[in-house]
Amino acid sequence: MTEWQLHNKWAIKLGITRDVSEYVNRLIDFPHEVEDYVSFVKSRMKKDHMTNDEFIKITKKLKIFHTVFGHDIGRTKKGPMKWQLEFLLQKGIDYVKAWYLHHLMDFIENREDDKVNNVLEKFCEKMKIKILDNDNELLRIRDLILMFVKQNYYEMHKEIKDARIKRNR
Ligand SMILES: [Zn+2]
Repeated sequence: MTEWQLHNKWAIKLGITRDVSEYVNRLIDFPHEVEDYVSFVKSRMKKDHMTNDEFIKITKKLKIFHTVFGHDIGRTKKGPMKWQLEFLLQKGIDYVKAWYLHHLMDFIENREDDKVNNVLEKFCEKMKIKILDNDNELLRIRDLILMFVKQNYYEMHKEIKDARIKRNR
């Protein structure tokens, strides 16, 4: 898990505000802490009659908390990926940009293979999403982020890996 500070730094370089970046970091790493996202999921699961707290409790009871609100779940499960992208698209394009950037940085951190083209290709395979109406819009945003990361790969990669070494020391 790359530190938020580092996510913010690169998001800001991309022209995203710190507020948007922090919001998206929280959504990705701790989705249940973002109230309006909890409400969104609650409504998708037709549980609008519950409060957010009740809803979170129920997901724990049913042992689906991790599947619905787990850390980085938007990268590993199609359902939450779709929810998060739909939710963020309606908030604005910068939110979606920050979302792709965060996941890509986490992905870089966790990969042993460091060659930029391989990393980006594997990332696209993993994040393939063909379930939204706004596919083209999403692909356009994704490609923009890929280009940004490619252009800054050397520096970004070094910062991500250095931060990990420091943390594990
Ligand atoms: Zn993360």
